[in-house]
Amino acid sequence: MTDTLANADSETPNHQTVRVDLGRRSYDIVIGRDVLETAGIRIAALKPGARAAIITDETVGKLHLDRFRDILNAAGIQSVALTIPAGEASKRFEMFERLCDEVLAARMERGDIVLALGGGVVGDLSGFVAASVRRGMSFIQVPTTLLAQVDSSVGGKTGINSRHGKNLIGAFYQPDLVLCDTSILDTLPLRDFRAGYAEVAKYGLLGDADFFSWLESNWKAVFAGGTERDEAVARSCQAKADVVAEDEQEAGRRALLNLGHTFGHALESAVAYETERLVHGEGVAIGMMLAHEFSRRLDLLPQEGVDRVEHHLLDVGLPTKISDIPGQMPPAETLMDIIAQDKKVSRGNLTFILTRGIGSAFVEKGVDPILVRDFLTEKLAS
Ligand code: NAD
Ligand code: ZN
Repeated sequence: MTDTLANADSETPNHQTVRVDLGRRSYDIVIGRDVLETAGIRIAALKPGARAAIITDETVGKLHLDRFRDILNAAGIQSVALTIPAGEASKRFEMFERLCDEVLAARMERGDIVLALGGGVVGDLSGFVAASVRRGMSFIQVPTTLLAQVDSSVGGKTGINSRHGKNLIGAFYQPDLVLCDTSILDTLPLRDFRAGYAEVAKYGLLGDADFFSWLESNWKAVFAGGTERDEAVARSCQAKADVVAEDEQEAGRRALLNLGHTFGHALESAVAYETERLVHGEGVAIGMMLAHEFSRRLDLLPQEGVDRVEHHLLDVGLPTKISDIPGQMPPAETLMDIIAQDKKVSRGNLTFILTRGIGSAFVEKGVDPILVRDFLTEKLAS
């Protein structure tokens, strides 16, 4: 029986730790199979005597909540569970209000913990609740989707959607600890796993050619859940942590994380966020493909680079073309309007993340919208 943090670490040498370096607000991301088993003692060591309000969604709750509460209980951590409906629609004001009130009704104090057990929806919403109730409670993330483990739980962006658009209301609020149990992804539907994988591939494509090569050779094991999955999650978290430590509030380098996202967001918006047609990671996959093809068009990289990206995305079963999205797409002009709303337009030019090759993305502020429109017109026809 492990009952101290030292025991937890020595008995589980397979767990890796990525440190997010943000001065006084630094925190650890612990990654590995069955990290959940050590959650109780890790949390008790970090926040002695604290209670926890666990926020989860109905799907994750059914699968993992009872076991998780037992683990906390065994370490002497009292908890209440607050469950929301699964899906993006929960990231809204009414749900935020309900959760804030429920956390207060459970008599949670400032040093107590808001604990997110779920995907990016639960994480973003819970983080905003943690940032707001009593002007900031402790916050711990236990991400349960691949996307949440490699992306949304790292970096401190929290928030909800507004009728004016996605993620428009929120706060930068860093967690105190992130626990990525890679075995919890075994219950994730394949489509969601693939969508999260698009973000994993993104880290290779934006700044780490060796990682992308490694993924080309090891992706099957990442999907199957071997130690390669832990490795992929850890390298992704490290990549995001490095960028966030350098540029927490997205003044410069953090923008590189948006590789594929300008096109991807436009496609998501064009299908009105209907997830039956397109989920975020699929939009990112197509968007990354478009970013590489557009960069090729500008003669920034050789065709071989574009082909490698396409092969890999196809290998793992991700979409690569706009025509892979079921149903009718709007014309290029409509996509351009969405892009212009999404982006800062400066002196008539657009900012895009372009690339000089695998692992060599950069921020380009002077992209001519006419070139993008003509490119999209062509892509919509093919
Ligand atoms: P999600 O939270 O909706 O989860 C996807 C689905 O998987 C849900 O139905 C959920 O119930 C289910 N699920 C979760 N874990 C499971 C498990 N282990 N087994 C079985 N089913 C499981 O979606 P997501 O893709 O994790 O996150 C998307 C959200 O993340 C979006 O709202 C997006 O805006 C946000 N996001 C935030 C950031 C950030 O920096 N904060 C970054 C990227 C994305
Ligand atoms: Zn993304």
